Amino acid sequence: MKDFNVLIIGSGPAGLFAAIWLERMGIDRIAIFDRNQYPAGGLLNDGKLNFDYRVGIDLDELQIDIEAAQSLIKEVRQIFIEFPRCQQVTFLENNKEIDEWRNVAQENNVQFIAPEQWHYGTDNGKKFVDYLRGLLSHTTFFLGTEIISIEKENGKYRFICQKNRKTEKYSGKVVLASPGRGGAYWFRDSSKKIGVDNNFGPIDVGVRIELNRKFYDPITDVVYDPKFIFQTRRHDDRVRTFCTNPGGRVRVENYGNFKLVNGDALFKHKTGNTNFALINTVFLTQPFSDTTEFGQMIARQFFLLGGGRPIVQRVGDFREGKRSSKSTFNSRSRHFDRCKATYNAVPGDITLGLPARIVDNLWESMKTLDKIVPGILHPSTLLYAPEIKFFDTHFPTDQHLETNIEGIFVAGDGTGKSRGIVGAAISGIIAAKGIVEKYF
Ligand SMILES: Cc1cc2nc3c(=O)[nH]c(=O)nc-3n(C[C@H](O)[C@H](O)[C@H](O)COP(=O)(O)OP(=O)(O)OC[C@H]3O[C@@H](n4cnc5c(N)ncnc54)[C@H](O)[C@@H]3O)c2cc1C
Repeated sequence: MKDFNVLIIGSGPAGLFAAIWLERMGIDRIAIFDRNQYPAGGLLNDGKLNFDYRVGIDLDELQIDIEAAQSLIKEVRQIFIEFPRCQQVTFLENNKEIDEWRNVAQENNVQFIAPEQWHYGTDNGKKFVDYLRGLLSHTTFFLGTEIISIEKENGKYRFICQKNRKTEKYSGKVVLASPGRGGAYWFRDSSKKIGVDNNFGPIDVGVRIELNRKFYDPITDVVYDPKFIFQTRRHDDRVRTFCTNPGGRVRVENYGNFKLVNGDALFKHKTGNTNFALINTVFLTQPFSDTTEFGQMIARQFFLLGGGRPIVQRVGDFREGKRSSKSTFNSRSRHFDRCKATYNAVPGDITLGLPARIVDNLWESMKTLDKIVPGILHPSTLLYAPEIKFFDTHFPTDQHLETNIEGIFVAGDGTGKSRGIVGAAISGIIAAKGIVEKYF
């Protein structure tokens, strides 16, 4: 059985940046495991990078202050932007237009965040991952290798893995778990068996809006992925825009018994549309705190209603309280032909699958956004559902991101420590520093 100093679960940004920092601090014999050949998430898809401590980084969760976050962002930024095809898409310096947008947002009681942003596009995803892997020289990659279980024996951890239907075993002194959202439930269940505590985090439930890009260009020409945060009046809930893709496409993530909508953009080829998510953060307390089950119930309901595909509704139909249907979906007389859908979802009624409170919050926020960026509620605008972000597996940790079990550290989106590529990278670095401080 091969033995390593550090065993890392997942080759996403959290795992890769942890390994880069471990090597920088003189650690060798590092192993990274991934069931895929390339990481499943945003490193491969879209690659929009937000360099701002207010986006995708939870300071309380990471137990760092603004200064520490900014210093870490500066370090990872340097690595990200050295990739030749990474281009800056939002410029903050001397940008008076950003102030103007902020003022309009404020007049409507909306918070507006314009981060420094870079983008490399889905078509450069693999090259980008190869570039990061190329920064590592003392790390062994076990790709196409799925970790099935984690065991502890004689003060060491052991991974039981499967590759090409063969079982392989590896041991290590310390584990860093960064399984991403796709591996979150597997890690939650596996780590529970060796005593790792976890609890439920919030989820974000909403829709993906796709519109003729000319309506949103006035804002995205200034801020590529503008962040608007709405505090709704009726329920006092928080709704925000997220993951904007000017000239992009709507995409779908397949989870077997349900599908979720998402979006991306290519570097080279642009469409005539823009899409972005509008999501409502949901926390649950008593008597039911299982946000995983809540979110999956919604997703499964859409799966049922859409016959296995996501549902899409035109704003023109939504306003009239009507479902969208195949026969009128591209109706010229209703101006629906102004936005050609980039994903073949099932025309229907999104209000059948979303709780009323969430529909109320989303619609109120859309109407407010339409005051800030007029035209977004053109009848042709498309509302796809379900868009759900499962940040629901959460692990209590110390400031080094070590769990209650000694030698098991966590990082990234799948453990509640980040919400995006840059945040995941930063959490990986914090864990790497903790590992060296405590165990080497
Ligand atoms: C379609 C899409 C587009 C996105 N676009 C963006 C974007 O533009 N900008 C942005 O900031 N964020 C984006 N995101 C979010 C981004 O992907 C995540 O925030 C980020 O990847 C989290 O990093 P991570 O290292 O925590 O996990 P991940 O990147 O998800 O990596 C975890 C890895 O662990 C592996 N794994 C899990 N379980 C096991 C197991 N049992 N055995 C072996 N391997 C395992 C998975 O295969 C996966 O590759 C996007 C996500 C998606 C799905």
